[in-house]
Amino acid sequence: MTQIAAVIAAGNADETERQARAALRKGADLVELRIDALPHPNPGDLRRLASALGAHAIATLRSPAQGGSRGPEGGARHALLQEMCRLGFRYVDVELETDTAHIEAYGKAASKHHQDVIVSHHFDKPVEVSDAADALEACIGLGDVGKVALPVADVDHAAQFVELARNQGLQSRRFVLIGMGAAGMLTRALAEDVKQEIQYAAGNRATAPGQFALETATRLKGKEPFVLGLVGHPLAHSISPQIHEAALEALHLPGVYLPFDVEGPSLETLLRAPERLKLRGFNVTIPHKEAVAELMDELDGDAEALGAVNTVVLENEWAKGHNTDVFGFRVSLRTLGLRLGERKALVVGAGGAAKAVVHVLLREGARVQVTNRTPARADALADAFDETVEVVPLEELADEGPWDLLVNATPVGTSGLEPGLPVEEPVVKRAKFVYDLVYNPPETPLLQVARRLQIRGTSGLEMLLHQAAKSFELWTGRSAPVDAMRRAAKEALG
Ligand code: NAP
Repeated sequence: MTQIAAVIAAGNADETERQARAALRKGADLVELRIDALPHPNPGDLRRLASALGAHAIATLRSPAQGGSRGPEGGARHALLQEMCRLGFRYVDVELETDTAHIEAYGKAASKHHQDVIVSHHFDKPVEVSDAADALEACIGLGDVGKVALPVADVDHAAQFVELARNQGLQSRRFVLIGMGAAGMLTRALAEDVKQEIQYAAGNRATAPGQFALETATRLKGKEPFVLGLVGHPLAHSISPQIHEAALEALHLPGVYLPFDVEGPSLETLLRAPERLKLRGFNVTIPHKEAVAELMDELDGDAEALGAVNTVVLENEWAKGHNTDVFGFRVSLRTLGLRLGERKALVVGAGGAAKAVVHVLLREGARVQVTNRTPARADALADAFDETVEVVPLEELADEGPWDLLVNATPVGTSGLEPGLPVEEPVVKRAKFVYDLVYNPPETPLLQVARRLQIRGTSGLEMLLHQAAKSFELWTGRSAPVDAMRRAAKEALG
């Protein structure tokens, strides 16, 4: 079984010991003590840490050349490593390049004291799988365990490293192969599945990009994992990872939700190899919602009607596309008590979200007007429906209304973008309810105006939560823990 090692990089030996004990109490099997994080690592500190934690500890003196904090070099490094190899730690980590001349001697000393030597190598930029395989071979040849870490460029690259790792596991080799960065998280998610010796997780703080939190790593331990995720570009703004992580944690499911920042061909990799990547499905966001719809074996009714997919379910080599944005908006109207049959609605925007909103409003029996910065796009949206959708130029809105519902389906008001309103205040004044699909910040400029005008309103958070809950249920067959998901969303939004 893959052991979970919480990485502890603290500023002094007391703090290192305290945090290591806390991580072991939280379920870590091991702690990796980053000796290089100590300001002046010395034999006294090492002896103390070894006697307090030795059987549960990996002692690592990462050199600056391999991504370490600081630490002694040359003879002073050699002396400390010699000491580490006879103090009774469970493992001692030495480096393929930095410690070449002494690795054999370290191995002999360590085995006398029942310690295993991990020989490691860290690449500082993405490399071909064959280069990583060569480095791993060299590390395994010299140590009890071989460890290679490298930044992973994209999903295709990550999938290749998963295959390399799987082959090592099939040969019963003792190894660790870590893909760093967001794209590399796939290699961490499948650590147990490919039989890695150790899964390194964040102890006090993440020490490597893409490292799992200790809670996530322990949740996966000893179980067959499944992978979910979000496919799109760019992804930095999304809070879906936090929402789904909270749901998986609340139900103790051995799944992870990973960011798949893909621009093109990687989409096919995800669809081609779901079994090998343990991929059960994923969400889709800008700019792939339409392209993914074309790649599905089957579409649900809403996805078919809109030609856009935001949730893919992969089962028995069959890919089904769903549109849970539609579901999320529809359910949020119900929970808000908004009945729109025969009522009048104005939708601002003509992109994918506007189309989903118009689709729901028409099904509810509302009379729908659409306005957009680029009028031709609003015309195209209206043409996509059999029912009547009236297009109103932005500058003519002052003569229209009143509306029972005004929906902002543009990004205007999103934090980080230029502040502003999607329509002018006199137009807002003619609405009875304002629904801003933007959810970050929680109270957008449009909602601030609505509040001042004493008009009821809501942000896009409820829609986001309901679409996430539906996706989660499609993937897991379990009732989504919506309260935990809401708490995580609010925390992520600050
Ligand atoms: P999209 O397909 O790119 O469409 C964007 C729309 O916004 C277009 O109509 C565009 O007008 C308009 N727009 C963009 N920037 C503008 C600006 N500065 N001034 C005026 N109009 C502007 O995007 P989408 O997928 O429809 O998403 C739209 C918004 O809804 C995003 O903020 C997204 O985060 C939010 N959303 C929320 C949820 C939720 O669950 N709450 C779900 C989906 C989407 P042009 O045609 O003139 O370019």
